[in-house]
Amino acid sequence: MARFIFITGGVVSSLGKGLASAALGALLQARGFSVRLRKLDPYLNVDPGTMSPFEHGEVFVTDDGAETDLDLGHYERFTGVSARKTDSVSSGRIYSTVLEKERRGDYLGKTIQVIPHVTNEIKDFIAIGEDEVDFMLCEIGGTVGDIEGLPFFEAIRQFAQDRKRNQCIFVHLTLLPYLAASGELKTKPTQHSVKELRAIGIAPDILLLRSEHPIPEKEREKIALFCNVRKDAVIAAYDLSTIYEAPLAYHREGLDQAVLDAFNISPAPKPNLSRWEDVMDRLTNAEGEVRVAIVGKYTQLEDAYKSIAEALTHGGMANRTRVRAEWIDAEIFEREDPAPYLENFHAILVPGGFGERGTEGKIKAAEFARTRRIPYLGICLGMQMAVIEAARNVAGLSRAGSEEFDHEAGVKRFEPVVYHLKEWVQGNHAVTRKTTDDKGGTMRLGAYSATLAPGSRVAGVYGTLAIEERHRHRYEVDIKYRDKLETCGLAFSGMSPDGRLPEIVEWKDHPWFIGVQFHPELKSKPFAPHPLFADFVRAAVETSRLV
Ligand code: GLN
Repeated sequence: MARFIFITGGVVSSLGKGLASAALGALLQARGFSVRLRKLDPYLNVDPGTMSPFEHGEVFVTDDGAETDLDLGHYERFTGVSARKTDSVSSGRIYSTVLEKERRGDYLGKTIQVIPHVTNEIKDFIAIGEDEVDFMLCEIGGTVGDIEGLPFFEAIRQFAQDRKRNQCIFVHLTLLPYLAASGELKTKPTQHSVKELRAIGIAPDILLLRSEHPIPEKEREKIALFCNVRKDAVIAAYDLSTIYEAPLAYHREGLDQAVLDAFNISPAPKPNLSRWEDVMDRLTNAEGEVRVAIVGKYTQLEDAYKSIAEALTHGGMANRTRVRAEWIDAEIFEREDPAPYLENFHAILVPGGFGERGTEGKIKAAEFARTRRIPYLGICLGMQMAVIEAARNVAGLSRAGSEEFDHEAGVKRFEPVVYHLKEWVQGNHAVTRKTTDDKGGTMRLGAYSATLAPGSRVAGVYGTLAIEERHRHRYEVDIKYRDKLETCGLAFSGMSPDGRLPEIVEWKDHPWFIGVQFHPELKSKPFAPHPLFADFVRAAVETSRLV
């Protein structure tokens, strides 16, 4: 039977609750426990799949095809536990389930209310799969006091009440602001935040305090007294040089010990932190630096490509080198020659994306990488653009393009080298999609297998011929162009097991040019860098030695 840890936030948003939850999960694993992390988000979107990356950051995709919040990416990167559909839920999803049940008549004519119908739905969600792990960590999105968060807070209060004593604890993350004028850390916002929590029936067991300055003993005592928590459960969360320092830093401050104490787990199993010591060693003792250009669309908000930035860091760790990633807006290359921008980089990455804007610039970037023999990694749209570049500039199909950009009925601007596939096979099931489906439900989503060509570069990189990677796209490279493109030297080195869907392409006569239809960045971990990113950075290191 799992123990439950509820993580809430107060005072201000963006304090790093997701990171704190992920790091706590890693620490419990280091003590030999199994964990699963969950995110409960108060927003009303049914899932983040249709939210703009500008607003919400990256959409993280799970193996089982859920489009989730980017915090699930943190969870996976810190614990290595693959998230599932049932690890992320929003108010929108909860309400839509409740309303579906109401329409079906499941409530037998009762009046549907937030308590108990919505809260019961949330409680059922929290308990899914509880027998599988030692600890279930549930992070509540937003900040205590938000109107839309109330049903979640009420549900976790009830949940703890329904369970045995000591089966649930509450960790609350707040901010200790520093007043430069008086040289003091202020505890009042934390006191108010805890008061707010207690007003809705939740008494925190542990307080995690974000602070830019050391927290003096006197302040800890004051917080313990006023907030009614034990003094050794007042834990400092200082700013970190890298997110991967979090497990070691929180351990030093006593977070995992405080959690075990709160559950009365004694004696506490000794932690083995060697994984995180090695991660920190690789990060802090890196030699040299490579520069990677990321040519994309959502360049203003770094969170839009969170997993790619992290996977590049992991690739650097595998090579004990630092990776400096710079984001370049693809649209620039539609007006200007890419050479002066891209010449100074040791590798070029074109990430995934949706819509036509910037795509001609991405094609220019792919052309530059091919002709200048610079390592290129094209991810999803980045692969599609590389294939279109090859079709136009090498295979002589001057009108090559993607059906995605031909949205005007009856107008065919492009020869659809990348097209909208309507049915495919996943495992033993045929899947079909219609253009008229809901926006959320028309993509190839989640983990799919691919078979690699023996002797190809990717087969060498992966060290196996059977892989499984995560997808999130509507369009596919049309297999009917395979022969033509292969004759030109673009090998289709990874295919779906039925041979119908191109999964990987690579230029045979190039130091390192690979396009993948999936998102390898989603599966990279600091302690297990993804092979494609590790080898991409290795190739970048080689380029850096040439110049
Ligand atoms: N827009 C492209 C498609 O839907 C690529 C998607 C992506 O890069 N994730 O196929």
